[in-house]
Amino acid sequence: MCGIIGYLGQRVAAPVLLDSLQRLEYRGYDSAGVVVLGADGVPTSIKSAGKVEALLARIDGEAIAGRVGMGHTRWATHGRPSRENAHPHCDCSGRFYVIHNGIIENFAELRQELRSAGHRFSSDTDTEVLPHLIEEYYRGDLVVATRQALARLNGAYAVVVLSSTDPDTLIGARLNAPLVIGVGTDEWFLSSDLTAIIPYTRQAIVLGEGQMAVLSPVGPVVSSIVDGSEVVPKVVRVEWDVIQAERGGYPNFMSKEIHEQPAALENALRGRLLSDGRVEFPDWGIDEDRLGSIQRVQIVAAGSAYYAGMIAKYALEDLAQIPATVEVASEWRYRPQPLDGRTLTLAVSQSGETADTLAAARLAQSRGSFVLALTNVVGSTLALEADGVINLHAGPEICVVATKTFTNQVACSLLLALRMAQARQTKGQGDLRELAAALRSVAVVQRELLARDDEFASLGAWLAQHRSVLYMGRGYNYPAAVEAALKLKEVAYVHAEGYPAGELKHGPIALLDETMPVVAFATEAPTREKVRSNILEAHARQSPVLAVVSQGDTSLVDHVQFTVEVPRVPEVVSPLVTAVVGQLLAYHAAMARGYDVDRPRNLAKSVTVE
Ligand code: GLU
Repeated sequence: MCGIIGYLGQRVAAPVLLDSLQRLEYRGYDSAGVVVLGADGVPTSIKSAGKVEALLARIDGEAIAGRVGMGHTRWATHGRPSRENAHPHCDCSGRFYVIHNGIIENFAELRQELRSAGHRFSSDTDTEVLPHLIEEYYRGDLVVATRQALARLNGAYAVVVLSSTDPDTLIGARLNAPLVIGVGTDEWFLSSDLTAIIPYTRQAIVLGEGQMAVLSPVGPVVSSIVDGSEVVPKVVRVEWDVIQAERGGYPNFMSKEIHEQPAALENALRGRLLSDGRVEFPDWGIDEDRLGSIQRVQIVAAGSAYYAGMIAKYALEDLAQIPATVEVASEWRYRPQPLDGRTLTLAVSQSGETADTLAAARLAQSRGSFVLALTNVVGSTLALEADGVINLHAGPEICVVATKTFTNQVACSLLLALRMAQARQTKGQGDLRELAAALRSVAVVQRELLARDDEFASLGAWLAQHRSVLYMGRGYNYPAAVEAALKLKEVAYVHAEGYPAGELKHGPIALLDETMPVVAFATEAPTREKVRSNILEAHARQSPVLAVVSQGDTSLVDHVQFTVEVPRVPEVVSPLVTAVVGQLLAYHAAMARGYDVDRPRNLAKSVTVE
């Protein structure tokens, strides 16, 4: 989620690091820091909250001597954005420095263990356990100590380690997070993104999953983290320019972020959905007593977050048997329903700065409700003011329209519903385990869908030829249909409405004719037959229907113009699949119309006006 850069070579390191951090900044990070080893082996570490400019204002790069160093721009997952939480982090002795991208799932246990062994922590991050572990294991061999420390970590990481004990060495390692080695002439780079290294070299080694690279003046030695077996690295030539690299080779951020969804989803589940099917939110701020006292949930949100909130309501009622209401924040705040100390207010906002959602949350809090924020930005106003926080862990989202933050809002809502079901014992162990397995299987399904770009490109181009489109679904797929319609409006500027399929004949059916397509979410669900009837009703009015069905379902082919088959998943997780279909259709419709998908007209990423 963050930006990482490491350098070892002939140049003065600091200016290279600062230049690279600026190049990584486009994703909008919350704090930054560097550490450089002087010729005497003494480390100089400078960190700052806020943008890279704030760091630059504190440093004169040329004045910091040293040819080995590393820098980091942080996208907080554990601990708010602040100077103390900015990377690099170091051990008690000030020798071992670490920068990290990702989430260490078992940091709480490790922290406890290290504290008992006498280590003192100076940040709230998950990352800080690593330098202390290295310190703990260090017996004169940095590589061995790092290997032993890494073996203790569960989760996802791309890390770079620098130590005053080995002034000519830089170590990089990765697990479930990207890290590349840039190979120059007598100089080497380690980075999370090619963007940072392209201006210096076009030769790169993509570090493999579970691999570690030890850089020294003789070049990189790549090995397996687990057993130390050496791997012959393959150097590739990077043909991308900087702009292409920023987008990871995708034509725009919307496409990149749509494709990042499986990984973002895995991050949302990481450390929360446990192997036995239980859900835990470490540090979310709600204790068992509070959880047990909740009798009702009030959800407030706006835009896509509101549709995610609808899914949250369905899941909370369905799985945890807890009454839930969902309201558009700009409405609720002017006519709030009664609240009390036993109402949990769930405020959903990607940015955590949405003015109406923030106002609704404040109002709820002033009336004695416990406010739980569901947001992607750890240090946002909503996250800071709320009584509890569930972080979306989607990583920075640049495209104005929500894609991966929407699906992670849905995923986190499902986790919340499972957590409450567990507390209220409304579902048996077996059911909970099954639901957990379903949630865990979604990333694979999403990857399968994302590989079928050509299919969606032609369907999107077809939708783009129309003036108006009706989306429909039932149950969990009704909010997914509304969100899909919103996506089409937002990026392709095609009028679209999302309807509960049962409502078709109560009005919108009057609009249907051969000029108005219907996109129907008709995947496996108890209401599947009802949706089928609604599709037949649309077909009878000559509407061309695009039906999204479960794999192998050919029962509708005679009544629809197109079918999109998606892998079978239980209904409760199906919006995580159909939402991706909706996004791909909207994206390709916009591309067919030649629009700028990342910056649609009249829209802003963070809606701070009321
Ligand atoms: N989990 C780490 C933190 O919160 C790293 C976050 C990142 O990838 O920037 O500091």
